[in-house]
Amino acid sequence: MMHSHGYFHEQMLDARELRERLPHVAHHCAGGVVSEQDGYAIPFKATHAFRRAAELNGARFYEGHKVRHVRRVGSDWLVSSDSTDFEALKIVNCAGAWADLISVMIGDNVPMSYSAPMLGITTRMPHFAHPVVGAVSRPLSFKQFENGTVLLGGGAKGFADRAHNRTRLDYSLMANGARNAIEFFPIMKTASINRMWSGLEAYMPDNLPVIGPSARSENAWHAFAFSAHGFQLGPVIGEIMADLVTSGKTGFDLAPFRINRYDRKVL
Ligand SMILES: Cc1cc2nc3c(=O)[nH]c(=O)nc-3n(C[C@H](O)[C@H](O)[C@H](O)COP(=O)(O)OP(=O)(O)OC[C@H]3O[C@@H](n4cnc5c(N)ncnc54)[C@H](O)[C@@H]3O)c2cc1C
Repeated sequence: MMHSHGYFHEQMLDARELRERLPHVAHHCAGGVVSEQDGYAIPFKATHAFRRAAELNGARFYEGHKVRHVRRVGSDWLVSSDSTDFEALKIVNCAGAWADLISVMIGDNVPMSYSAPMLGITTRMPHFAHPVVGAVSRPLSFKQFENGTVLLGGGAKGFADRAHNRTRLDYSLMANGARNAIEFFPIMKTASINRMWSGLEAYMPDNLPVIGPSARSENAWHAFAFSAHGFQLGPVIGEIMADLVTSGKTGFDLAPFRINRYDRKVL
């Protein structure tokens, strides 16, 4: 099906090829799919590298300023936090799990929801898996790092408390994820979970992000609801937003991502 859509980056593996790449995979795994050009990055390092590069190019970061109001003053925008006001000709709403609240301030009403995906990481283990691994028959994804620790995910959700910017783990779902990992990689029976955590993340009903101009206001753009894929999409979204803000144009077709693709009343 992917080939018929023009995508050739994934190759099928039979059981022997799968075992060559993942010698510790369970015997019942009959085959796999590999994407040779895919990679991974560590969010903390990658995000800070982008921040430093932006600062070197003149960007300024103001942390700890919660935006309370966004409104028009003449042709400018006035963005007010508890302690400071910021005036700007153009604004971008990239407020993640809180972006629907900022959207309303700009004039756009959007059916965004939010959730709390969870991850866990083990203590160090002998090396047994190099690639990032996912399963298709049930929720499982994991990655073993160079220091031997194994990151366990798969999309299970904890409990989100957006008003307080807090999340709580659902340990029973994490246990399911751990059982899946053991089923695919028996060596995981020896694993000890070191830490687990979850973060607040925005979703749209179609699991596609909102990217593009406000439907109601001039000189305002949105980029949010990355529906669990915002880390990998971050760099290209940055490029698109920079093009939109500076020239009003981008080479990408943003129609599927427009903010008003769901019919909603203006609040
Ligand atoms: C456990 C977990 C695993 C994940 N794994 C992956 C993965 O493997 N690959 C992948 O691509 N993605 C993954 N994601 C998703 C990815 O992390 C998100 O899609 C991405 O971080 C969203 O980026 P963002 O900039 O839209 O939002 P955020 O990173 O949430 O940034 C929004 C920012 O806006 C700020 N903000 C909100 N409201 C206000 C306000 N009123 N005033 C001031 N600031 C405000 C927030 O404080 C926050 O700093 C994962 C997420 C989680 C939680």
